Amino acid sequence: MSVAVCVGCGETKEGAFDPCDGCGLDPARGGTDRMLQARSLLLSERFYSEEALKEFGRKIRVGEPVSYDTGQMSQLVEELKTQKLPVISRASPGCSIVTWSMLGMLVLLAAGLAYLYGAWKH
Ligand SMILES: [Zn+2]
Repeated sequence: MSVAVCVGCGETKEGAFDPCDGCGLDPARGGTDRMLQARSLLLSERFYSEEALKEFGRKIRVGEPVSYDTGQMSQLVEELKTQKLPVISRASPGCSIVTWSMLGMLVLLAAGLAYLYGAWKH
């Protein structure tokens, strides 16, 4: 499980692009607000340990300024410009499970038909 911190209120959440339970901030819905998305990505387990993230969360909650690494920020903004948002690809694992179970059923059906056909031939 990945851990991320809401850049709006400091609440811990599961993914950097997940909507926040605490304040409702949803970085994925920010659309073109890449700075918000980059900040959200930066405050995730990809860059910091869980302990460091908790410290970030505490700072945001009490209103202390959080220093975002400007180098990493601009790198992330670039990355977001060229890549599809993770939220778009989030739908695909579910889709592929449906596709694979459909395929599995088809294979079973074909095997069953082949068996029946073989039994009928004899
Ligand atoms: Zn929040």
